[in-house]
Amino acid sequence: MQTALITGASRGIGRAAARRLAQDGFRVVIHYNRSAQEAQQLADELIAAHGADAVRLAKADVADRDQVARLFEEIGTVDVLVNNAGIAQQKLFTDLTEQDWDRMFNVDVKGVFHCCQLALPRMIANKRGKIINISSMWGQVGASCEVHYSAAKAAVIGLTKALAKEVGPSGIQVNCIAPGVIQTEMNAHLSPETMEELREETPLETLGTPEDVAAMISFLAGKESDFITGQVFGVNGGMII
Ligand code: NAP
Repeated sequence: MQTALITGASRGIGRAAARRLAQDGFRVVIHYNRSAQEAQQLADELIAAHGADAVRLAKADVADRDQVARLFEEIGTVDVLVNNAGIAQQKLFTDLTEQDWDRMFNVDVKGVFHCCQLALPRMIANKRGKIINISSMWGQVGASCEVHYSAAKAAVIGLTKALAKEVGPSGIQVNCIAPGVIQTEMNAHLSPETMEELREETPLETLGTPEDVAAMISFLAGKESDFITGQVFGVNGGMII
């Protein structure tokens, strides 16, 4: 049984990805940081459906190297790494503090760096592995009042492309998903009117669900994506073309 680590699986896109990869036959590591109860509930649900061997729970702040290193020591080989954990913040660029900037980059970029670097030695030894990084369409085109988020998500795209070139010869694929507007707690602060405007701006006239992104994660984690690396896949209803 192959192991898939999904960071930030306690909620939103990560939770849907854990459910989907468990269905696909992976042993899933449900990683969380603060939402212990939600993570435990998901673990209970997946254990009931797939058995205790198919599920592990692991806690770490992805921004903290020591915590991530302990997590990898506990879980061992990871065949599929989904770097999904992330934060967002809306603020005028002129109001951003250095702390806002650093926290954004520590979680959304350095978290990906830590997880990739700690997963790779075993992947390289096995000459096999798939890394799936979750960026954002704002990393592709930039969002007003989300300059640090957009810059961090653009960095994830750059990291994906460069790392794909470096580790391709070792049999490892690195791809990226850039979701559009997905209905999760990350967007809970937006008013119903704003969500409706975003829906209307989307060519497919619908907002995304965590399951829409999980379907692309499932494809990239599976055998059918074996010839694909270094790519950025928009799951955005056509919002960014
Ligand atoms: P969400 O519902 O807010 O969930 C975020 C997840 O990330 C939670 O499981 C949270 O874990 C985890 N997390 C946050 N900070 C962490 C940290 N320091 N260490 C470890 N885990 C941490 O967000 P989402 O909408 O599912 O977003 C998932 C990913 O998709 C993010 O990278 C986000 O930027 C990206 N994305 C989302 C959208 C969207 O519209 N929703 C669009 C484009 C891209 P705990 O709660 O356990 O702390």
